[in-house]
Parts: sequence; structure tokens; C-alpha cells
Amino acid sequence: GPSTARQQVCILGSTGSVGANTLDVIARHPQRYQVFALTAHRRVDDLEGQCLRFQPRYAVMSDEPAAASLRARLRSAGSPTEVLGGVDALTEIAAHPDVDTVMAAIVGAAGLAPCLAAARAGKRLLLANKEALVVGGGFFMQAVRAGGAQLLPIDSEHSAIFQCLPEDPATWRERIERIILTASGGPFRDRDPASLCDVTPEQACAHPNWVMGRKISVDSATMMNKALEVIEARWLFSLEPEDIEVVIHPQSIVHSMVVCRDRSVLAQLGTPDMRVPIAFGLAYPERIESGAAHLDFTRLSGLTFEALDRRRFPGLQLAWDTLRAAAGSTAVLNAANEEAVAAFLAGTIRFDQIHTVNARTLDEVVPGADAAGSLEALLELDAGARRRARDFVKGLAA
Ligand code: NAD
Ligand code: MG
Repeated sequence: GPSTARQQVCILGSTGSVGANTLDVIARHPQRYQVFALTAHRRVDDLEGQCLRFQPRYAVMSDEPAAASLRARLRSAGSPTEVLGGVDALTEIAAHPDVDTVMAAIVGAAGLAPCLAAARAGKRLLLANKEALVVGGGFFMQAVRAGGAQLLPIDSEHSAIFQCLPEDPATWRERIERIILTASGGPFRDRDPASLCDVTPEQACAHPNWVMGRKISVDSATMMNKALEVIEARWLFSLEPEDIEVVIHPQSIVHSMVVCRDRSVLAQLGTPDMRVPIAFGLAYPERIESGAAHLDFTRLSGLTFEALDRRRFPGLQLAWDTLRAAAGSTAVLNAANEEAVAAFLAGTIRFDQIHTVNARTLDEVVPGADAAGSLEALLELDAGARRRARDFVKGLAA
């Protein structure tokens, strides 16, 4: 509680959308939380501003030259923050003995190693970085159990599910029949599928309800974000893949639902604002002010739901396909998708070709028996799938 020592928080990826929202919530509760460490990839200006404001003990930049530049700037500003550089420093800081809570808000598989380090060190791990769990799968969950970590979802859908589930996880299986993840449908929900080959990165990143980083924005437009979330839910709540459903809900007010054995349906509602699941994760099991606006039911135009058009969003099915395939298949899908999205954002391939790259990479990169049994094996699998995906990208661009 607030009367005891302040929670020491490490934010991995503090300069991103989730990272900035986390700092916004923390700034509302200076008596509860202290920023112990902030990390970013290479945006020196942004991290410098955050360090001067929050005065963390450590700042980490995974890019070494960026770290050197930040160090020089903070020194001349008289800041007490110590700057570390390199990817190993991310892992060290996530497992630092003085850290209580780690917010995992790095985008992509680059967050896997620091997430695992936090899990093994028994931290409270607030997981926004869904790709880390999609890549790590059962191996990741095993590390959470072995380290005695507390894993709390930050993805709004998974936070919603968690808030609707019974408190004791041992009762989930007997009480819960299935879960329903809601999906806004992204910016192309009503667009003619045949015209999806013409969309630009700017159109794909213009999400109707959420302001987010570019990678997750493209994933929301292809529905790969929902595919990653199906995989994430399978591991977080130890569900059978067939017990996870997806329904389109364009207003993003119902954040997801749990269907009980008696067919009672529990839902969590709120304005689409990431500070709600972030505040929930930080304070759990308490509840604190998040800064989000009230949901005004008298001004809601309506809550609508519709089935998903599989032809428009062929990538979604890959979630169930990879969960049923060899362990490590979800890591292959994630790697291909990260490469395909980067190529689309760089203007190298078309929007509809993201799925082509993902499907072809999955066809060709089949994980071996021990491919998902260690961090090293997973990183090797990830690297191999990326090489293959980049070959497909080259072929499509030619
Ligand atoms: P973002 O692009 O805005 O920020 C990413 C952060 O990660 C930045 O701080 C960046 O410096 C850091 N980073 C990027 N690449 C890195 C690397 N190779 N090594 C170390 N650090 C690196 O992304 P975001 O929208 O904040 O999303 C972060 C994660 O949270 C993603 O996994 C996303 O799927 C998930 N998420 C985001 C939202 C949202 O509203 N933005 C909602 C749900 C889940
Ligand atoms: Mg989500």
C-alpha cells in the first residue's frame, strides 16, 4: 500500500506509446511509485527529457552510440542518472535486485531476453510486449513459474479477461468455457478487400480508436495484432486454442469477454485508453486513478458486434494454425510478421503482401524438436525465420 516503501519501477521501452502512458500514470502517484530505470532504443531526445523529469537511477539505451550521447548530455545537465548502453544492460536492469516492477513495453522479439530476465528474477512483470510471449510460449510461462514472478497483462483485451476471471487461477478451467476477444477491425474493416493492395503506411497507421506505435498499428490493420493476441491469451490463461474466439466490435468499448460454464458472460468496459490497463497492472489488486475519461453511457451511439470477414483478414487464422503446429511455430510467425511489417513501412512490399510473406515463411521454416526449449534456440529460430522472410520480401520487391 501507499504507506510502505514506494514500488521501484523499471520501464522497458519508456519512449514508446505504452511507455509514455505508463509514466503518465506514475506521475499521478508519486507517493506509490518511483522510476528506477528507463530504457529506449535510440531516441536520445525523448529519453533525455524523461530522465530530467523523472530522475531515474539508471537509463539504458540498447544502441551504444545513443547511450554515449545521452550520457554526455545528462552529465552536462547535472543529472544524477547513470547511463548504460547495449542489449545486455537491458537484461541486467530488468533483473536488478532493487526493481519491484518491470513494465515490458518494448516492441517485438527484442523484448524477449529482458522479459525472461525479469521473470526469472521473480519481478511483477507487466506485459505489453505481446511478441515476447508469442515467441517464448510455454518456455516463457515456465520461466515465470520457476522465478515466482507475477505476470499481469497490459494488452487491453487481456487485462479485460483477467479482470473478469475468478481470482483463483486453479478454478479457471472448471468455471470458464471460453473467452471472446473483441477487435475493432482497424482502419480497413469496411474496405473492399481487393483494394487493400493500394493502401499506404499512413493509411494503415491511422487507427480509428487508439493512438499506438507504428508496428502494432499495421498489425491492427492486417488483424495480425488479433492473431498475436489469440496466441498471447492461450499462454496467459492456459486455454485450448479452440476456446478462444474473436468478434468485431468497432467502438472498442467492450475490451473483451469471458463465457462461464453456466453461459453467463462477463465483460470489462471503458473508454479506449491504455492508462486503464496500465493503472490496473501497477496497482493490482488495488485500484488507482488512471487519468482516463469516464465512460458516458448516455452519449454512446451504440455498441455493435459483427462476425469477422476471413477473406479480408486471412492472417487471423494463422494464430490457431501455429498454436496447433510444432512448438516454435508462433515464433516463426512473429519473426516473419516483424520483417514483413518493416518492409511494408519502408515501402518495399504492398500491404496485402504482408500475409504472403507470413504464410510462405511458415510453410518453409518448420521448427525442430528442441527449437522452443531455450532462449538461445528461440533466438536462433527467430533469426532463421527472419532470413527466410527477408528473402521472400526481396523476391516480392523485385
Ligand atoms: P512504440 O513503437 O511506440 O515503442 C516501442 C518502444 O520500444 C520504444 O521505447 C523504443 O525505443 C523501444 N524499442 C524498439 N525497438 C527496440 C529494440 N530493438 N531494443 C530495445 N528497445 C526497443 O510501441 P508501442 O505502441 O508502445 O508498443 C509497445 C508494445 O506494447 C508492443 O509489443 C505492442 O504490441 C504492445 N501494445 C501496445 C499498445 C498501444 O496502445 N500502443 C496496446 C497494447 C499492446
Ligand atoms: Mg490489444
